[in-house]
Amino acid sequence: MLDLKHVKKYYTVGETTTKALDDVSVSFRKKEFVSILGPSGSGKTTLLNIIGGLDRYDSGDLVINGKSTKTFQDKDWDAYRNNSIGFIFQSYNIITHLSIIDNVTMGMTLSGVASDVKDKKAKDALIRVGLEKHMNKKPAQLSGGQLQRVAIARALANDPDILLADEPTGALDTQTSREIMDLIKDLAKDRLVIMVTHNPELAEEYSDRIIKFHDGKIIDDSEPYTNEGDDSGFALNRTKMSFWTALRLSFTNIRTKKGRTFLTMFASSIGIIGIGIVLALSNGFQKQIDSTQSETLSQFPVTISRVGLDSQAAIQSAQTGKNNFADGSKVTAKKSAQESAQHVNKLDQDYVDFVKDIKKSAAKNIAYTYTTGFNLIRQVNGKYQSVTFSNQDQSQSQTASMDPSSTMGVGGAVYPTDRNGKMSFLKENYKVLAGAYPTKKTDIVLIADQHNNVNINALKNLGFDVKNNQQLKTSKLVGTTVKLISNDDYYQQLPTGNFIPQQVSAKMADSSKTKTLRITGILRTKSKNSDGLLSNGVAYNDRLTKDVVDQNKNSAIAKAQATSDKNVITGAAIKSADRANLLAYMGAASVPSTIQIYPNSFKQKDKVTNYLDKFNKGKSSEDKVVYNDLAGNISSLTGGLMDAITYVLIGFAAISLVTSMIMIAIITYTSVLERTKEIGVLKALGARKKDITRVFDAETTILGVGSGVLGVVIAWLLTFPANVILERVTDLSNVAQLNPLHAILLVIISTVLTVLGGHIPARIGSKKDAAIALRSE
Ligand code: ADP
Ligand code: MG
Repeated sequence: MLDLKHVKKYYTVGETTTKALDDVSVSFRKKEFVSILGPSGSGKTTLLNIIGGLDRYDSGDLVINGKSTKTFQDKDWDAYRNNSIGFIFQSYNIITHLSIIDNVTMGMTLSGVASDVKDKKAKDALIRVGLEKHMNKKPAQLSGGQLQRVAIARALANDPDILLADEPTGALDTQTSREIMDLIKDLAKDRLVIMVTHNPELAEEYSDRIIKFHDGKIIDDSEPYTNEGDDSGFALNRTKMSFWTALRLSFTNIRTKKGRTFLTMFASSIGIIGIGIVLALSNGFQKQIDSTQSETLSQFPVTISRVGLDSQAAIQSAQTGKNNFADGSKVTAKKSAQESAQHVNKLDQDYVDFVKDIKKSAAKNIAYTYTTGFNLIRQVNGKYQSVTFSNQDQSQSQTASMDPSSTMGVGGAVYPTDRNGKMSFLKENYKVLAGAYPTKKTDIVLIADQHNNVNINALKNLGFDVKNNQQLKTSKLVGTTVKLISNDDYYQQLPTGNFIPQQVSAKMADSSKTKTLRITGILRTKSKNSDGLLSNGVAYNDRLTKDVVDQNKNSAIAKAQATSDKNVITGAAIKSADRANLLAYMGAASVPSTIQIYPNSFKQKDKVTNYLDKFNKGKSSEDKVVYNDLAGNISSLTGGLMDAITYVLIGFAAISLVTSMIMIAIITYTSVLERTKEIGVLKALGARKKDITRVFDAETTILGVGSGVLGVVIAWLLTFPANVILERVTDLSNVAQLNPLHAILLVIISTVLTVLGGHIPARIGSKKDAAIALRSE
């Protein structure tokens, strides 16, 4: 069944060539027990390795069942070893980290035998060698003789046609040797057994045929045999290790060196920890920024005032000058950069209508403020007196001039009613400290800061006699009424044609045109973020200003001012610019002086500004209307900065990832060196190169997943102390937050990098010569 025809195998090391097999021709019967005797170095092991397909012959032919192996490829040899050959070695070559039963099933696992069949066969083989009680033990728990029985069971389990034994009793005592020999003789009843031995007595006693070897040549054969054309042929069942087998093999191996594995994982997880922490922090900071932006910055309105700042013009104006000094003796009349940047917005009805078309989903609060004067009086201690809504200290300015245009506007803050007529703006940003939210246009509120402070000037200007730091009962303020007097009731015309305010009186307060304004409540900012949204002090409804304008635009004083080129109150000459202000103050302006658009969210703010930009398309610079978006400037700055910092930090952490990749490569290479024997055994059992690579890839996969998970877990655990420290230092809570998606990505990255790092050493391992691997002690 097995014929060697002129087989030669030479080894050349340096200058010397060893003829390990020197033109060997021999044939074996289908069933016989052949012993090969010969001095050390005569080529016995080489012969077995070549018969077993662990080594390749240089020339000649090995014919199995009439089939030449000359055209065999690697995969054919792999299958041949797995299907037809069983190996028994002097040094047992049991894989120490696998249990006895797993060692026995390995060959069948490689050829993909179903697990129940596999277990049955393995048990039968172990029973046959007398080890049924020991099959779940580890190799370290067995004696030498028992280990050799395991090796025999392993060789037997796959029911091979040829059993090759290389000095199987060389390491055993006489008694045990005999037991093993009995076993092997028994096996030779139904197969070809070729055994190399040093022991001529054992050979004589047990075997059917003795072949003597010397210097790579057969010098004697007790039962020569010539093949009479036995060419039944044979089919090879290809082997293939599944990735699961590879994983299990690596896993049991890793388990035997837990400490080292953990240290390796820990060291290579440091890069992952670094990146994890950086991501968690930047994630958290970004979330903080986002929430601050949507909570705070979006609350700040996009403001369109009569005089806006055209930032583009400002930049251009600042850049027009060349850096060098000008020549010549002339000077140029030129506006300052600041003045050039000032842009007079033509806030006409067209623009007001344009703004009114902004979608409610983008901005539900839009405040239109008319800079009109409020003629306010209040009854204090039974007597009416003039009051104002200003939050400024007016003690100086009032003495400076009685001209109302010098204290232009009403002062105080304006709160928007939303476009559905509700007070959503106040309800979202302010909570009631006392009283209630306003419901009517004539309702006014006092705005307090987070420490319940109300601007002292606002209170003084309302006629309250208060000292700095004085505490007031809220009941004293809530419910206070202020009378808003029409221009016609308030001003009287002198015979000279000039107008002067009349003596403040109850008659004024009782006039049918008079509006009664009431402080309905004291409101406090809900969060630190909305602090400053409305200035501390009095706040009134934006629609009140519109009503006052409507009431006063036909008043005597407004009409007189419209046709006069002097200030009708002071009689002083006026410039045209002041004239518009003066007219507005008297109620003769029909369009608002300020429009404040409160976007619903940070995202919606972009929609608002994009919409406003549309108005300016194709318009001359004069006709453009510029807006001021304070929030936009801040947020684009912080966002970019955050990204930059994150990238830099990730870059640093990535360096440690690469370091750990190199480390994994070294560790894998060490493991390859350590497991040389195992590689040999697996190959003897029919494992392909690919399978060996797979075993190590599986090992690095385990290391990669392990270090990834370890890194992510440690990074996650570190977010807790990091948050405690950050909260102490910055007042921000829960900054570090590890995004689960990032965590999964990091584990994947760690795995991929580790497998990449370990793959080259794994390939080196797979290429190891099985014959050499098994010779190594
Ligand atoms: P035996 O098993 O009879 O002791 P071997 O078959 O192991 O002998 O070796 C036969 C000869 O081939 C020896 O001289 C040995 O040194 C040589 N040899 C075996 N393997 C190699 C190898 N990989 N490289 C070089 N020489 C080798
Ligand atoms: Mg030998």
